[in-house]
Parts: sequence; C-alpha cells; structure tokens
Amino acid sequence: MVSRDVDHLTELLRTGRQILIFTGAGISTGSGIPDFRGPSGVWSRRQPVYYQDFMGSEAARIEHWDFKLEGWEAFRDARPTRVHEVVERLEKADKLLKVVTQNIDGLHQKAGTSRSLLVELHGTNTEVECQRCGVRFDPEPHFAAFRRTRRPPLCSCGGFLKPATISFGQNLRSDDIQAAEAAARGADLVVALGSTLSVHPAASIPLIAAHRGASYIVINRGPTEHDGDPSVTLRLEGDVEVLFPPAVDGALVSG
Ligand SMILES: [Zn+2]
Repeated sequence: MVSRDVDHLTELLRTGRQILIFTGAGISTGSGIPDFRGPSGVWSRRQPVYYQDFMGSEAARIEHWDFKLEGWEAFRDARPTRVHEVVERLEKADKLLKVVTQNIDGLHQKAGTSRSLLVELHGTNTEVECQRCGVRFDPEPHFAAFRRTRRPPLCSCGGFLKPATISFGQNLRSDDIQAAEAAARGADLVVALGSTLSVHPAASIPLIAAHRGASYIVINRGPTEHDGDPSVTLRLEGDVEVLFPPAVDGALVSG
C-alpha cells in the first residue's frame, strides 16, 4: 500500500463523526476461530441443517447441536483482534455510529463494543435462544448437557433451544435489518472490513450509506463485490489487521 493511501485512510477516519463499521470474517482470522469454508473446514465434512428441518426433526436438531458443539470451545475461547480493539476505541472517541457485523463470534462485544451500538446480522454463537419464547441463555451448560446426553436442550417453556445464529433457510431479524439500515442512513463514513461483500442482504448495508454520499472505505484481502463501484472512496487490498489499526491510531492522535 502506498503512503498516499495510508494518509487518505487516516484523514477519512479523522474527519468521520458518524462512522458505520461493517465487518466480516476477515477481521477474526487472528482470533483462533476456525475457517469454516476452507478445504479442511467443517463444511467439507458436514451438510448445514436448514431451519425448517431443525424445527421439524429431532435427528436434525441432534445434527445441528453436534455441529455447534464441535466449534463451541474455539468460539468460547477466541480472543478479539487488534481490529476489534480499535473499533472499540472509535466508540470511546465518540465517533462510532454503529457496528454492523456478519460475524457470529461475539468478538466485538468481547472487545468492549456496546450492545446498543452492535448489530449482529447473522446472530451470535455466544448465546442460545428459545425458538418459542425468544429467551436467551448462556450456551455452556446446554453444550455440557448435550455432550452428556446427546439430547437437544429444551427451554422451560418447552420450546427448542438453538444457538442464536441465523440458520440456513431462516430470515434475518427484521429489527436488526432496520437498525442497520437506519445507521446506513445516518453515517457520514462507512468502512467495510474483512468482508467479500458477497452475502446478501448484509452487503447492501454499506452501499445504502455510500449511495447517499457517505465516504466509503473497503479494506479486504482479495476481491470484493463492491470493487469498481463508483461510490467506493478508497479501496485498500491486504490484511485488515495490518492496515486498519495503525490508521485508527493515527486518526485519534491527530483528531
Ligand atoms: Zn422458551
């Protein structure tokens, strides 16, 4: 990356007052979360369980809980990266409007981002949710029970408990979409970090902000679907964890 781009990035972050941060898997690669999509990833060995099957079949619920159990300890023990940390610093500096994430790892919250400023579009692995009454619980005892009994846990109301991620075939929560869209309408700067911007409808969120005139920064290693979009102000190619934290440091020092 040339130094002119570094300066531009720092300057945009320095002048931004209502920043919308949009994040994908590329910001969590250094956190200990396994790669689900790679050649040795879990999707090469397992078929995803669709929501309708989870609700309709005990065998599907067992399969889903077994899949989630396999990744649970890695998610539980994952640690935020420098990227999560500097996003939290933007909040402390009163420059952060919202964090909209595609990630289910809960690491923004672990890094200190306020719940009220966080939209987890695809849900979170850090809680389980009753599919009947909506109450959420700490997953740990439910994973422990499932490991022991192989029986998918139930809520006290009788509803099925499911890790609070959005399953295949399950709609995103309308509250989350509305909160993300409202942030996109209010932002003066939107920064997409570590996302290929190829999963919809999540990827439409930064474009809503960009198309109404907010500056739009895209940082990712590898191509994204917004490359070449005329609304992109600055496109940086490379590791987000290398590129983004120093720019935030620079912007907050000079801001
Ligand atoms: Zn319930």
